[in-house]
Amino acid sequence: MFENLTDRLERSFKILKGEGKITEINVAETVKEIRKALIEADVNYKVAKTFTDEVKRKALGMNVLNAIKPGQLMVKVVHDELVSLMGGQATDINLAGNPTVILIAGLQGSGKTTFSAKLANHLKNKKGKSPLLVAGDVYRPAAIEQLKVLGQQINVPVFTIPGSNDPIGIAREAVRVAKNNNQNVVIIDTAGRLAIDEEMMKEVEAIKKAVSPNEILFVVDSMTGQDAVNTAKEFNDRLNFDGVVLTKLDGDTRGGAALSIRAVVDKPIKFVSTGEKLDALDIFHPDRMADRILGMGDIVSLVEKAQEQYDAEQAKILHKKILKDQFNFNDFLEQINQIKKMGNLKDLAGMIPGVGKALKDIDIDDDAFKNIEAIIKSMTPEERENPSLMNGSRRKRIAEGSGTSIVEVNRLLKQFEDMRKLMKMVSGGGAKNLARMMNQ
Ligand code: GDP
Repeated sequence: MFENLTDRLERSFKILKGEGKITEINVAETVKEIRKALIEADVNYKVAKTFTDEVKRKALGMNVLNAIKPGQLMVKVVHDELVSLMGGQATDINLAGNPTVILIAGLQGSGKTTFSAKLANHLKNKKGKSPLLVAGDVYRPAAIEQLKVLGQQINVPVFTIPGSNDPIGIAREAVRVAKNNNQNVVIIDTAGRLAIDEEMMKEVEAIKKAVSPNEILFVVDSMTGQDAVNTAKEFNDRLNFDGVVLTKLDGDTRGGAALSIRAVVDKPIKFVSTGEKLDALDIFHPDRMADRILGMGDIVSLVEKAQEQYDAEQAKILHKKILKDQFNFNDFLEQINQIKKMGNLKDLAGMIPGVGKALKDIDIDDDAFKNIEAIIKSMTPEERENPSLMNGSRRKRIAEGSGTSIVEVNRLLKQFEDMRKLMKMVSGGGAKNLARMMNQ
């Protein structure tokens, strides 16, 4: 995500390396590079100019802080400006109303249908809601079918009126049905066109008028950069929507839409979608996104994802084992399964400070653990419980059994030992040790 922008910004900051002080000259030079980086990322020209003017003013204003190196100061200024450019705080969706009516609008192919299902899933699992999905794209039978399939996967009912070509009537009826069935959120997926067209706009406006949604979300493909921003503007002029959903962020290396939409349209980004799977949806946090753009990782999201998957009781048992040096290969295998449940490996790695960039060109897929799993599964129960048993002949047998090599088995054993030591240090020494390690 946004790798190119991260790279370019990092290069801009290098100008200040070795400089003892912020000066008009070195700031002007850095800011020029930052502006180029933003334009290359397809950020709206005016937005890029205002942004860099502000960075320059603030950096020069903070020059009194002699204790901070110019490079660090600039990163801090740019970070804060990025956060404010993207809206400052995360903005929740409005869940008032009984039922809450949420209207989803956007061009065809933007990811509306996928997002509708993801949102239903999110509201069901994280907010305890009971949603009803509404298939409002009456022109494409495939779209209705697609929503039905997604609904089945997440166990959320999908409302349709077979044979009807009246999306306004369908939306109205869906709200009535939801009320009767105690479904407290109605998510209406509307029809899109490949480009903005008057008929589509009129139809969405008419649905809006008919069902008075509590929340209108505009869905747009992040990879389309400035086009995304222009489309957002046109939809907003007609619908006055409440928030933006940026999809396909997983394929966006530039980030122009994410950075410009708020400033141009003056509406918050509320969700970002980062993959085709139904759990690839995140609430948009400007500060965390700024961290990721600057290659600082997004530890908070990583920890949250881990917490969602993690059973507290199990964590306590594990903690005790680590402290007593009893962490074994069964626990290791369990950890691998936990990590696999958290989602795409490369995305996860990208959240660790400094790691995303290092892995930019490396293809890690979710099979990355396959060999490790094969090796562990070729160990006897005793060997898994007690890694110190591992002598030469056992290593050879395990390599053969797992279809790997002795080198790979040795490497895993070494990694396992290192990890055990590291975990013991972190667990025993608490946050102080961890902070020290992360600062290295
Ligand atoms: P709609 O026409 O607006 O309803 O768009 P769809 O929901 O059918 O999505 C269009 C295509 O984009 C489908 O193939 C989706 O699987 C894919 N898609 C949707 N969201 C994402 C995302 O966040 N990342 C990726 N990589 N693909 C996505």
